Amino acid sequence: MEVLLTSPWVPAEWIRAHGLEPRGVWYAGNFTDQSQPLAAGICGFANAAVRLAEEHVDAAVIFTTHCDQLRRGFDGVNVNSPPRVFLFNLPATWQTPVAAILFDAEMERLGKFLLEIGGHSPSIEVLTQTAAEHAIARKQLLDAALWCPARAFAEAAARFHWDRAVCLPAEPPSRSTDSGAPARQNGGPIPLALVGGPLLREHWTLFETIANAGGHVVLNATEVGERSLWAASNGVVPSATAAGARQSLSREYLAHCVDVFQRPNTRLYDWLGDRLAARKVRGIVLWHYVGCDLWRAEAQSLREAFGLPVLLLEAPESGSVPLREQGRVEAFLEAFR
Ligand code: SF4
Repeated sequence: MEVLLTSPWVPAEWIRAHGLEPRGVWYAGNFTDQSQPLAAGICGFANAAVRLAEEHVDAAVIFTTHCDQLRRGFDGVNVNSPPRVFLFNLPATWQTPVAAILFDAEMERLGKFLLEIGGHSPSIEVLTQTAAEHAIARKQLLDAALWCPARAFAEAAARFHWDRAVCLPAEPPSRSTDSGAPARQNGGPIPLALVGGPLLREHWTLFETIANAGGHVVLNATEVGERSLWAASNGVVPSATAAGARQSLSREYLAHCVDVFQRPNTRLYDWLGDRLAARKVRGIVLWHYVGCDLWRAEAQSLREAFGLPVLLLEAPESGSVPLREQGRVEAFLEAFR
């Protein structure tokens, strides 16, 4: 059975170890396609997640408390389709022992849900092996972020969250710059960071739009970009008990979660600060959805924290990036000339 994930912070390896198939929705084609316009203030991503849960009657869908929109979406869909939907309580805090206990308790609760929908209880060996495979894949992708062309990297990262595959283009034999960027000399492409919420398959043309306007994305910090990858360990510290292995995995996720919903969100700014400086980023494109107060509220803070110009770019309600936004990208990059 497929288990559709709406957040990269729900441990996919925990689901896979139960014999089910985790599928991150970012890779699904036409995820936001809808014939009806959205009600005012509704996030297209959260709305599409609700629609997905209602239409895919043969799959389970995991919502999270990442934001109010997803939480309310779960409330809306839950009435009609138990027990195929599950709300994973992501702790907003991360500095306290209580956050670690809460995260692990949610993993345990999710495990029970997975058993209810047909999964089986994972052995320590299977969980350890599955977690190690995910860790290796994450590391490969993270390394590739330094040389892979921006669109190919976005596609590979989303694909990893879809089925754990690592599908990267061939690495160039020699490279003069990081992130697959052409040489950054006078008149070269402007190095940009793409920061924000979910970037879906139908949005990947944004990389061409930016390139055509004279920019180059050297840091993908959208929901399933580099922020969702880390290379800290082998996934699960060997443990004598299944609960110990699960706790090890939950600690791993909590330790590496870098997202806008966390309080304080200093970890997001520290993470960004290191990479913006190392990659000589000159501007930030803030990718956000209508109704997403979380990301929209960061625009001024990002400007102040990093002293960089920030372009707020709105994800379309459905389909690819509209022409209107392409014009805004061109105007933003024109200011660097
Ligand atoms: S884009 Fe914003 S409002 Fe939409 S689901 Fe993500 S955090 Fe929530």
